[in-house]
Amino acid sequence: MARVGGVLKLGKIGSGVGVLNVRSLAISANPTQEYDIVVVGGGIVGTATARELKIRHPHLNMAILEKEHKLAVHQSGHNSGVIHAGIYYTPGSLKAKLCVEGLQLSYKYFADKGVPYKKVGKLIVATSDEEVGRLHNLYERGLKNNVEGMKLLKGEAEIKEVEPNCRGVEAIWSPITGIVDWALVTQYYGKDFEGDGGKIHFRFEVNGFKDSQNPEYPVLLTSKSGDKVLAKYVLTCGGLFSDKLAELSGCPRDPRIVPFRGEYLLLDESKTNLVKGNIYPVPDPRFPFLGVHFTPRMDGSVWLGPNAVLAFKREGYRRSDINLRELFDALTYPGFIKLSMKFVTAGIKEYLYSIFLSLQVKQLQKFVPQLKRADVRRGPAGVRAQALDRKGNLVDDFYFDMYKKGKTEVGQRVLHCRNAPSPGATSSLAIAKMMADKMESEFKFNKR
Ligand SMILES: Cc1cc2nc3c(=O)[nH]c(=O)nc-3n(C[C@H](O)[C@H](O)[C@H](O)COP(=O)(O)OP(=O)(O)OC[C@H]3O[C@@H](n4cnc5c(N)ncnc54)[C@H](O)[C@@H]3O)c2cc1C
Repeated sequence: MARVGGVLKLGKIGSGVGVLNVRSLAISANPTQEYDIVVVGGGIVGTATARELKIRHPHLNMAILEKEHKLAVHQSGHNSGVIHAGIYYTPGSLKAKLCVEGLQLSYKYFADKGVPYKKVGKLIVATSDEEVGRLHNLYERGLKNNVEGMKLLKGEAEIKEVEPNCRGVEAIWSPITGIVDWALVTQYYGKDFEGDGGKIHFRFEVNGFKDSQNPEYPVLLTSKSGDKVLAKYVLTCGGLFSDKLAELSGCPRDPRIVPFRGEYLLLDESKTNLVKGNIYPVPDPRFPFLGVHFTPRMDGSVWLGPNAVLAFKREGYRRSDINLRELFDALTYPGFIKLSMKFVTAGIKEYLYSIFLSLQVKQLQKFVPQLKRADVRRGPAGVRAQALDRKGNLVDDFYFDMYKKGKTEVGQRVLHCRNAPSPGATSSLAIAKMMADKMESEFKFNKR
């Protein structure tokens, strides 16, 4: 087998709380590598699944191909850092099942590996009588989803026992909700994978799946910079580019990814004592996002947000980031046009909140009245990869796809994770188990 060409570097990663040494391997234009399984995408979902497959099948030769210079550069490194309990999701959905399971697996993993986390808990607060009915529905959902330890808090006095500066009519208290640095967790998964003999190739942007004409390794993965890798089977976990990767192997483009930027505000250091744990609103059931919330971070800071505005570039973290081709693509997609017509007022409102911070602060003051405009400044942003179908429906659940019609041999060897929005990080270890099961049943590679 061809030798890996490239540079071996030792680098420090982590964000303040934990620091870990991870090897990174950059591929060069040397002879083609051959792998039993290749995972495209070094976010938390791809890395967790690669790790799971390598643990189950240590004899398999495996690699992760990631277009950036390190793991977790996109969604997995730009999120709220919450370990979700599983309250919101439709009972029976993959999100409900995998979030509840993922939380348990995550806490066990953190304890085993010494990953720093905090079980700070979470309040979902109804601030008006109209929201109480929806809050009760959420509580019922949580019970159906087997969320542990939830409690309904009746009245402001009970709410204040948990969060002294929070006001509200009723609230759900979830003590098992926690916070963690999901980018750091991804690095841990990557280290496990490499420790078990897996390879991670950075700066490898996959731009094609072709028939290699090699019966043993039928899939040829090519990169933008001319590198090549051969594989028997492939899994893609491309986040914001999952639709494009699926299309490359013969799947339909739909559902398409529409990027929604979520901007955070930073609470002034002198005011971080205003909140102890996570404070969330009762979400609007028409939208897949949870609403602007207060979230303590592992480094002691407090983030407020994120909102949800259309990003003019898939990986556009600043408001000035625009990619005309991607924007045109989104704006001319029938699904997006239908969605915009349904939610035109809500969309304009979100933009106004994004521009005028005082409007966003006003929303947050419903929960913590002491909060002032002067206490916040603009902070980082993340971009959500949200799948949207042609009819204008946001795909609510996790979604996987494979080209099955038998047109190309190659397409039948590539499985795609096409929609893994929040709570994808919390669910990562459970998604990994489910996808590993799916790979085993579809591809039969587990027979030696
Ligand atoms: C603002 C925000 C807040 C969130 N908050 C939470 C939270 O509190 N808790 C929670 O559980 N979840 C949260 N989520 C969701 C969570 O972050 C995602 O579900 C999760 O990170 C998805 O992981 P992923 O691996 O699918 O995607 P990503 O992390 O985006 O990884 C995809 C990877 O694929 C790579 N890639 C793409 N195309 C190619 C290509 N052609 N070749 C090679 N590599 C490629 C990308 O570079 C990227 O590294 C949040 C998300 C956002 C955006």
